[in-house]
Amino acid sequence: MEINTETKIMAVIGDPIDHSLSPFMHNHIIAENGYNAVYFPFRVQTEEGLKRFLRSAEILNFAGFNITMPHKQNIIPLLDGIDSEAEAYGAVNTVKIRDGKAYGYNTDVRGLFWALKENGAKLSGSRVMVIGAGGVAASLIRGASAAGIRSITVLNRTLKKAEQLCEGLNYAQAMAQTPENMRSTAASSDLIINCTSLGMSGTEHDFSDLSFLDETDAFLCDLIYNPWETNFLRYGRERGLTTINGMSMLICQGLISFEIFTDEKLDMRREYDRLLPLCEARLKKK
Ligand code: NAP
Repeated sequence: MEINTETKIMAVIGDPIDHSLSPFMHNHIIAENGYNAVYFPFRVQTEEGLKRFLRSAEILNFAGFNITMPHKQNIIPLLDGIDSEAEAYGAVNTVKIRDGKAYGYNTDVRGLFWALKENGAKLSGSRVMVIGAGGVAASLIRGASAAGIRSITVLNRTLKKAEQLCEGLNYAQAMAQTPENMRSTAASSDLIINCTSLGMSGTEHDFSDLSFLDETDAFLCDLIYNPWETNFLRYGRERGLTTINGMSMLICQGLISFEIFTDEKLDMRREYDRLLPLCEARLKKK
């Protein structure tokens, strides 16, 4: 590729950032579609560092940048504006620089819902079981009604956190993550999403019992993509259930961010189909 004065700068910031697949993904989209742009990872550790990075991005007229942990919330007061989704979720994962000003967006839930629908999950009118009540679960629950989801049951190790997420939402109810509740909720759900870190590489924690999947026909989604197939997904697949892992969400939120950076529409399906096997191979090589 040729770098010149018109080359647009894009980035992802966070800490840690070395493991991020976003530079690989975005630079691939750039190359495949012939954009004059380049996408860098930057390690930004502190809030002071975040302020300095934002100022630099404005001065250098970045196209935009993605934000991952730990800055998704603390970027908000530094921005010139945020869209309604980012406001509802209280978190920003995409910043667009426009005329020297910075605007925040959140593409996580839109990306997840797009991936679910494209892979055959029905959202409208569905009953959803969410396991976990952390940051992603919070956004997902708030974004659910716009997707036409009929009801959500949130099961979490710490019941109080699930209750807080469901407060004031007539379509959401909280439950403790007991074997009985897991089993009965799974049996009456159309879609089950694991939003915990249970089963993730590098942690020692996993579901101790997956038999709650024995009596369900639900579509299974795990937000984890490392390992590529968690025990949760494997157990379901071996029972004949349809499954997707967290790479689908990661790719789709990235594609939507890319559209925001460039103000152009991508062929989402084509890009997704191209990126999924590439990201799988890349992850397995690391
Ligand atoms: P988070 O805010 O840290 O929440 C973690 C959740 O996991 C909490 O509900 C926590 O329960 C539960 N948990 C952790 N250890 C547990 C254990 N030993 N037993 C039972 N529950 C446990 O995390 P997050 O940011 O929402 O992320 C959730 C998952 O999504 C992570 O696996 C993350 O890697 C993944 N993720 C994927 C993508 C993607 O693009 N695919 C994007 C973001 C995140 P308590 O409330 O009881 O602590």
